[in-house]
Amino acid sequence: MTNESKIIDGKAIAAELRAELAKKVEARVAAGKSVPGLATVLVGDNAASQSYVGMKQKACAKAGIKSFGIKMEADATQEEVEKVVSDLNANPEVHGILVQLPLPSHLDEEKVLNAISIEKDVDGFHPINIGRLAQKGREPLFVPCTPDGCIYLLDKIGAQIEGAEAVVLGRSNIVGMPLALLLVGRNATVTVCHSRTKDLPAVCRKADILLAAVGRPEMVKKDWVKPGAVVIDVGSNRIEDPSLEKGYKWVGDVDYDDVIDVVGRITPSPGGVGPMTIAKLLDNTVRAAEIADGK
Ligand code: NDP
Repeated sequence: MTNESKIIDGKAIAAELRAELAKKVEARVAAGKSVPGLATVLVGDNAASQSYVGMKQKACAKAGIKSFGIKMEADATQEEVEKVVSDLNANPEVHGILVQLPLPSHLDEEKVLNAISIEKDVDGFHPINIGRLAQKGREPLFVPCTPDGCIYLLDKIGAQIEGAEAVVLGRSNIVGMPLALLLVGRNATVTVCHSRTKDLPAVCRKADILLAAVGRPEMVKKDWVKPGAVVIDVGSNRIEDPSLEKGYKWVGDVDYDDVIDVVGRITPSPGGVGPMTIAKLLDNTVRAAEIADGK
């Protein structure tokens, strides 16, 4: 296998899914059903959050999904944010509600997420959806988009998940932990690593599937990877690079150039998991509209 053929092209796979979704939206509207609608709630003026919300709204427009952008001041109160969510719950044009995280620290994130109707919880962070994900035989209505995107990529390349040794680096609420739960649900044998894990390289070397979500630029090196392993790099880190005109570049949690000779398959970062996150959000929004159809 050439190094080029090892690349899992998340950008292309996400574009394919988005095109399928655009067709689905067109067909449902032609059949007289509602236009799927996604509301984004942005509290404060964090530049990264603004840019993520902007990307999500653009992607919605391309897929024929209507977006409702709600911007709130950084000092919005808990009651004000929950009132906005409650109004969106009651709005029949809105099928999905996304509260952009992180929220300013004076707000209670769990309470805000809890206020979203589980049928509109397209980010999959509602405690009931997460709780169902953690329980055998229970199905969440929605699964968090980034972890779901990772599984989608693994399925797309025909990776054997059942019975595989999977190692997840990171245990955050939005990526590492739901990803580990999804892998358990698919019958992988899962090890979850975090900042207190001892001898990370040795633990990672056991993995048939290694998934990195730590937010540490290029941390995973060649000797952490079992030859032939599938590596999913969720990391997205901005680092300085004075050799470039803009002075910085984006890298993953995996040292791509170092590991490429050893891996079986790998997602680049950028261009791997990132595009899948947005495609999965659109997918969840279309599904939320379908759930509303059945009511
Ligand atoms: P968090 O900071 O919330 O979590 C990081 C996790 O990694 C924690 O569990 C932490 O352990 C663990 N960790 C941190 N440093 C180390 C270390 N040196 N050794 C072992 N474990 C460590 O990050 P997120 O989960 O939000 O994001 C992870 C990465 O994924 C980031 O680069 C982020 O930008 C990217 N990301 C990409 C997305 C995409 O769409 N492509 C979406 C979301 C995130 P502990 O729990 O002990 O603190």
